[in-house]
Amino acid sequence: MLSVEKALELIISNTAIREQSEKTDIFNCWGRTLFNNVQAKFNVPSKDNSSMDGYAVLTDDIKKADAENPVSLKIIDEVRAGAEFKGKKLQSGNAIRIMTGAPIPEGADSVIPFEETEESGDIVKIFKSTFKSENIRLTGEDIKKGNTVLSRGIRIDSAEIGLLSSLNMNEISVFVKPRVGIISTGDELAEPGFADIDKIINTNAYVLYSEVKKYGGEPVYEGIVKDNYNDVKKMFLKLMSNDIIISSGGVSMGRYDFIPDVLKDIGVDIKLHKVLVKPGKPIIFGTIGKKLFFGLPGNPVSVMVSFMEFVRPAILKMSGNNKITKPILKAKTKEEIRKKEKRKHFIRGIFSIENGDLFVITTGPQGSGILTSMSSANCLIIIPMETDLVNKGELVEIQLTGHSEI
Ligand code: AMP
Ligand code: MG
Repeated sequence: MLSVEKALELIISNTAIREQSEKTDIFNCWGRTLFNNVQAKFNVPSKDNSSMDGYAVLTDDIKKADAENPVSLKIIDEVRAGAEFKGKKLQSGNAIRIMTGAPIPEGADSVIPFEETEESGDIVKIFKSTFKSENIRLTGEDIKKGNTVLSRGIRIDSAEIGLLSSLNMNEISVFVKPRVGIISTGDELAEPGFADIDKIINTNAYVLYSEVKKYGGEPVYEGIVKDNYNDVKKMFLKLMSNDIIISSGGVSMGRYDFIPDVLKDIGVDIKLHKVLVKPGKPIIFGTIGKKLFFGLPGNPVSVMVSFMEFVRPAILKMSGNNKITKPILKAKTKEEIRKKEKRKHFIRGIFSIENGDLFVITTGPQGSGILTSMSSANCLIIIPMETDLVNKGELVEIQLTGHSEI
């Protein structure tokens, strides 16, 4: 049986980046993965401009100015944002009233803010000196022409949307999202809203649907499949049009757990079955060409944990994302944690920050059907395979989940 690390390595090495792009407009590129490096075709800002409302001056003119000895300059013009100084070069002894964002008139080399001045008629008294370029946003200080501003594979967030807009782009090439087919298996299952409450309600499909969306896949839900070989096989054949296929349930040792047999029979090259992990041990993974098949266990918490540890990185990689590993932090445990099995454990936990340090407690009972604990958790505590006891006060590794995820 493979360790979590080996299993993940195997999954990632069998996952190919889906080299296909599409264009999105600037409104809809949030959360998508950038397909090409973005190079600046011009400087940003394209011209020196003022970062304050004030007066454009020659720095040398006011170098001796202070509260007792103000320097008087003649105001010869005004430039507002969007306009330009129409005159010739600014000469010594003169100043130009200037608004934030307006281009710096030729000859001027700093801006003194209104707050340090007093205007009367066409004369301004200046009570403070400036240094060269003070209150000027210099040409190219944000982005230099020719520089690579954003790299292929970056997930586009709000700051990147700002940068893309500032580069005059409103159409962005992004990776096409991988299509991810989802099914639930089990005779006992019924859909929410339509279930007799003595049935087990299908939660996995909806959890998976939202997780796939969250990490950049295009989820396609195909419904519940009964636990019989033919139905399961028919469904998998139907799912072949997807890039990734995820099922839940039917991978354990039960007499009606048909997923492994069906996968083999339809030609899936099984790369792993069972991992030294808790929860989620019975996971099965295989491929047909570039298509990935994940048979996740049925228990709701196992589904969430195995999705996070094994499916999430594959979706991210396939969709071109250059960050696929989940960051690990360290927190001091406020309770003793014991485990018996030699498997890597992912324990639902709640971390807190106290005086700048991270602490963590478990959510309590860890049954893999206890979905409420997945909601109250904000992290998973990772206990290595060989560790059987962590004392109170020791450091443990955690991964952030749900509301606090990074
Ligand atoms: P299995 O691995 O198919 O034996 O499933 C284990 C248990 O997980 C089942 O007995 C159900 O209680 C639960 N389960 C399976 N599939 C789902 C699902 N789609 N939604 C919620 N619970 C499920
Ligand atoms: Mg089942």
